[in-house]
Amino acid sequence: MSISQIIKKKRDGIELSKDEIDSMVSGFVKGRIPDYQMAAFLMAIYFRGMSAGECVDLTMAMVHSGDTVDLSGIKGFTVDKHSTGGVGDKTTLVLAPLVAASGGIVAKMTGRELGHTGGTVDKLESIPGMQVELSKEEFIKIVNDIHVSLIAQTASLAPADKHMYALRDLTATIESIPLIAGSIMSKKLAAGSDGIVLDVKTGAGAFMQKYEDALTLAQTMVDIGEGAGKRVVALISSMEQPLGRAVGNAIEVKEAIDTLRGDGPNDLVDLVKELGSTMLLLSGVVSSRDEAIETIGRNMETRKGLAKLGDLIEAQGGNREVTENPGLLPQPKVTIEVTSTSSGYVEKIDALDVGLASKILGAGRREKDQPIDPSIGIYLMKKVGDKVEDGEPLAAFHSDGDKDKIDPAQEKFLNAYSIGEKRVDPPRFFYARVSRDGIEELEPNK
Ligand code: URA
Repeated sequence: MSISQIIKKKRDGIELSKDEIDSMVSGFVKGRIPDYQMAAFLMAIYFRGMSAGECVDLTMAMVHSGDTVDLSGIKGFTVDKHSTGGVGDKTTLVLAPLVAASGGIVAKMTGRELGHTGGTVDKLESIPGMQVELSKEEFIKIVNDIHVSLIAQTASLAPADKHMYALRDLTATIESIPLIAGSIMSKKLAAGSDGIVLDVKTGAGAFMQKYEDALTLAQTMVDIGEGAGKRVVALISSMEQPLGRAVGNAIEVKEAIDTLRGDGPNDLVDLVKELGSTMLLLSGVVSSRDEAIETIGRNMETRKGLAKLGDLIEAQGGNREVTENPGLLPQPKVTIEVTSTSSGYVEKIDALDVGLASKILGAGRREKDQPIDPSIGIYLMKKVGDKVEDGEPLAAFHSDGDKDKIDPAQEKFLNAYSIGEKRVDPPRFFYARVSRDGIEELEPNK
């Protein structure tokens, strides 16, 4: 069948065969299918969706477009974690060492910023000396030695995703469940871990803003992963307001260190306990959820997780002293307070606008491959439910002092805040846990 006939079939809502999907993906990666045909195919998927079988075939075609990582050199069950992306999401920096300190094995490949959301690799690179581009042999050796390593995803891993994502970004086809599921799961399956815990975000700052869409995405990804022989559990959590208080790179590393010292913001601590306990249960190192939560909590309190983060930084060439003295992280040239222009209660903080404000301030890239100033970021002093007076600071901007960035960033940031007269409760944080056993509703807030 010709390429235009495959596109037509999808356009008309007819299910595609595995061979047809394979030929689209491999033809595109090999340069035989031009961008305009792939763009039309992506738009057809956006409107028509994909069946469960097509989602698996698309994901596997993307996995086979490049290398797969063989983790058989690692002794034991390896567990990975992935977030669908959010603002202020430094969870991996806390979770990976904490799970390793609790008996799990985390061999994780991670990415750079995507859209308005920050990337774990960029955050890690703000630690002086920290190397994230390691060979596969170095990666496996570190995991065998200390049970945790976090490295940058290589370009040879699911290259179809990189090319397809770039087109999706330009053709308004990002928010498609089969395409997001294929994008995430192709990278996770190619990265080789035995178990995968997914943190699917919903709310204003997430790719899937509606809960129902986040749930469908979670179920689709669990089905794809379990179908490929992995153990997969997804949690649905809120990205209605930024996670924790820090948004940026070095500033998020500091908040992660504070959390491992037992001084973290409640939402981040709760999220780490939920995801961490799920990772320990999947790994089979604990026998009940209560034991898993108790283990994670104890290793946070006793700072075993912090010591493990120090081991991880040292093993990857960084200065482990930052875990004792976060002042060694890159510091901003100036800190500017952004103040409220009204009194009342914070009703809403649009996470998307905060993410964009931090990018405008300089914490993200304007162009591909541009270096990031790791010292730039935003520290939120007020979160939803807090009382605020006119003139009181809402946030501190960590800045390079450039007014051309500060002014528009401030405008975008103030736009994110809704302040009203009535006291409001913080938004629901947890929604559901999705696994091969079904959907389990979670207590909204802890
Ligand atoms: N994260 C990904 O890796 N891919 C998407 O398509 C969306 C979020």
